[in-house]
Amino acid sequence: MNANDDKPELDPAVYKTLLESTRAIPWKIDWPTASFSYIGPQIEGLLGWAQHSWATVQDWAERIHPEDRDRVVQFCVAQSQAGIDHEADYRALTCEGDYVWIRDVVHVVRNEDGAVDSLVGFMFDISERKRAEEQLLQLQRELTELSFRDGLTGVANRRRLDAFIDAEWSAAAREGKPLSLVLADIDCFKQYNDRYGHLAGDACLKRVASLLDAAAVRGRDLLGRFGGEEFLLVLPGVDAQAALDCAQRCLAAFAEAQLPHESSTVGPVLTASLGVATATPAPGEDLATFIETVDRCLYRAKAQGRNRIIAAAHAPQSPA
Ligand code: GH3
Ligand code: MG
Ligand code: MG
Repeated sequence: MNANDDKPELDPAVYKTLLESTRAIPWKIDWPTASFSYIGPQIEGLLGWAQHSWATVQDWAERIHPEDRDRVVQFCVAQSQAGIDHEADYRALTCEGDYVWIRDVVHVVRNEDGAVDSLVGFMFDISERKRAEEQLLQLQRELTELSFRDGLTGVANRRRLDAFIDAEWSAAAREGKPLSLVLADIDCFKQYNDRYGHLAGDACLKRVASLLDAAAVRGRDLLGRFGGEEFLLVLPGVDAQAALDCAQRCLAAFAEAQLPHESSTVGPVLTASLGVATATPAPGEDLATFIETVDRCLYRAKAQGRNRIIAAAHAPQSPA
C-alpha cells in the first residue's frame, strides 16, 4: 500500500509484464533526443526487426512505406510539437520486405514547464481491418459498375443512358457543340423469338450489342440498351454527317453479320432500322423533344419498309 493514499501501488515489474503481454505494442520516444527509450518485444513478432534495432525516430521513419512516409512523419511531428495526442495509420516494413498496416496511437507527455518531454504510444496491427475495408471498397466499386450495366448485353443500361444524355445535353448547350443520337431497333424481333426461342433471342441481343459497339465512333460516345430490342448510341461532339456515317456502319455491320432470320418480313437475315438526330442545343432547349425526334425518325424507317436509316432533316437513306 502507498503511504499517502489507500490505493494499491502496482509493482513496475507487473506493469512491464502487462504491457508486454498485450497484442498492442507499447513504445516510448524521448522527444529532445528523438530516440526510442523503449519498445515492446512484441515488435519482433510483428515486423521481424529486433527490439534493439529501434534506436531512433529515423529507424521508425525508414520503416514506413515510402508512399505513407512523408504524410505520416510530417503529421506526427507537427502534432507532437503542438503537444496534441494523435493517431496515424501507415504501412510498416517487415524485415522480409512485406508491409503490415499499423495504427499508431500517440500520447504526448509534457514536463512541468509544459515542454514536450516524450511520446508514449501503442502500435496496433490493423492489417485484417484494412483488408476488410479494401474488400468492401472493391465490392462497392463492382456494385456501382453493375448498377450501370445491362445484365444481358453488358452495355450501359437505361439508367446510365438517361444520366449520360442529360449531362451531355447540358454540356453541348454550354459549349455550343453538337450532340447526336443513333437509335437502332431490331426488325421483326418478336418473330425471331417465336422462330428460334427466347434464349436464342437473348444470344442475338448480345451479338447485336457487340456489332453496334464495333460500329461506334469511339470518343466520349456511349452505347446503351434503350429498351427490349432497342439500342441507343449517344455521340457527344459528333455532327450530323458523322452520325449518319456511324448509322451506316451499324447497318453495314448487320448486313455483314448475316445472322439468319427466316421469319423476318424484310429478308432472310437479321436487320435493323435506325433513326438519327443531331442538335446543337440552345440553353434551356428541351431534351425530351430531341429524343422524340430520333424516335420519330426510327418510326418512319419502320414505316418505309425497315432495314434503313432515317436522319432528321436528311433525305431517307437506302439500305447499306
Ligand atoms: P419491329 O420490326 O416493328 O421492330 O417489330 P419487332 O417484332 O421487333 O417489335 P415488337 O415491339 O413487336 O417486339 C419486340 C420483341 O422484343 C418482343 C419481345 O419479346 C422481344 N424482347 C424484348 N426484350 C427481350 C429480351 O431481353 N430477350 C428476348 N429474347 N427478347 C426480348
Ligand atoms: Mg422496339
Ligand atoms: Mg423491333
